[in-house]
Amino acid sequence: MLERGEVANSWRRERWDSLRLLTPNWLSRLPGYAYDGSDPDGFMTMSEVVAFVSRYASVAAAPVRTQTPVISVTQADGGYHISTTNGDLESRCVIVASGACNAAHVPAVRQAVPPAIACFTALDYRNPEQLPPGGVLVVGASATGVQLADEIQRSGRPVLLSVGEHVRLPRTYRGRDVLWWMDASGVWNQRYDEIDDLTRARHLPSPQLVGTPGRATIDLNTLTSAGVELVGRLAAIRDGRVLFSGGLRNMFALADLKMERLLDTFDEWARSRLRDADVAPPERFEPTRPPTSSRIGLDLGSGEIRSIVWATGYRPDYRWLNVPVLDAKGYLRHDGGVCDAPGLYALGLPVLRRRKSTFICGAEDDARDVVAYLAGYLDGATRSSLSP
Ligand SMILES: Cc1cc2nc3c(=O)[nH]c(=O)nc-3n(C[C@H](O)[C@H](O)[C@H](O)COP(=O)(O)OP(=O)(O)OC[C@H]3O[C@@H](n4cnc5c(N)ncnc54)[C@H](O)[C@@H]3O)c2cc1C
Repeated sequence: MLERGEVANSWRRERWDSLRLLTPNWLSRLPGYAYDGSDPDGFMTMSEVVAFVSRYASVAAAPVRTQTPVISVTQADGGYHISTTNGDLESRCVIVASGACNAAHVPAVRQAVPPAIACFTALDYRNPEQLPPGGVLVVGASATGVQLADEIQRSGRPVLLSVGEHVRLPRTYRGRDVLWWMDASGVWNQRYDEIDDLTRARHLPSPQLVGTPGRATIDLNTLTSAGVELVGRLAAIRDGRVLFSGGLRNMFALADLKMERLLDTFDEWARSRLRDADVAPPERFEPTRPPTSSRIGLDLGSGEIRSIVWATGYRPDYRWLNVPVLDAKGYLRHDGGVCDAPGLYALGLPVLRRRKSTFICGAEDDARDVVAYLAGYLDGATRSSLSP
């Protein structure tokens, strides 16, 4: 196992200070290893995640070579040639497990932001004190955007939140954590080959969720109540002026509808599998409140906004992978983690084999399947005869 930094590197180096996992502790499980502390319903801080993953590495006696960046992987006779800053290796198989979030995905309009406005991404933002005094435009209202908008607003800076497509979820539903419902009802276990539009599922925004000791729900209504101003999707920046799309009302209605459908799925599952006493009665939540009037433009020269935080998602970085398995947009082409190059596999990507693949608790089932393919390959089976 080659790691460019230290064990749990992304959790040590690439997260903001206040972040806690949005998955409860009882969901922090890896093969043969699970959270065993006294607060199963709590949410780990970053230092707790680092300790959790580091302990797993030592319990599993994982042969990790740290401080070993892979600088190139190329196909060589019957396998791969791997160059690292600490020497070269040959291997018949490679598992690409370098993460889905190595780089911030920022729209090209960023180039048009005037130099006087400070720009941050989720990878370089640490806390509100880093930002210049004054107003902040947060672009993106998924897990990262809503958490940062909330934190920055609380620091006393006025926040405008630009909202595009998003996934609304309550933190708790019928007395249980919403991720308990995802897990127990089987929604999270849905396999990649059962999903109608897999490409879309793999690029869905992360749910609006936050892990806090009080199990608070964070959604657009809570942010509006806290004083955050909601604006539409950032469509363009022209001559120092940001243009926001209209249609907020429709976007809210769509996210509310999708949430309701998911809650219906939970209710249906509960009716057939649970006793009434197991969970509280069904709930429905207040629809997302549209602003009375939402502005469609913002003059970046007016001084109202001094910084922009781009919470517009992440993307993987495969500049080191010199094997023709990337699509035109630079994403890895794979079928449930099996790449179209002999002996090349992937783990840790969105909906790799299941809806839960994006999360820590998704690694175990995916790894079992992918390793079965890999073992079959090493045993000499042909690809078409392999199955996990
Ligand atoms: C902001 C944020 C919050 C999240 N919150 C949660 C959560 O609450 N719960 C949850 O279950 N999941 C959460 N996730 C998802 C979580 O990060 C993934 O489930 C998990 O980290 C996947 O583990 P991984 O090992 O596949 O990838 P990573 O944790 O990204 O690890 C990949 C490793 O590969 C190394 N690497 C990359 N390139 C190279 C190279 N060229 N050479 C050598 N090493 C390299 C990196 O240094 C890194 O250590 C969150 C993700 C983000 C970005």
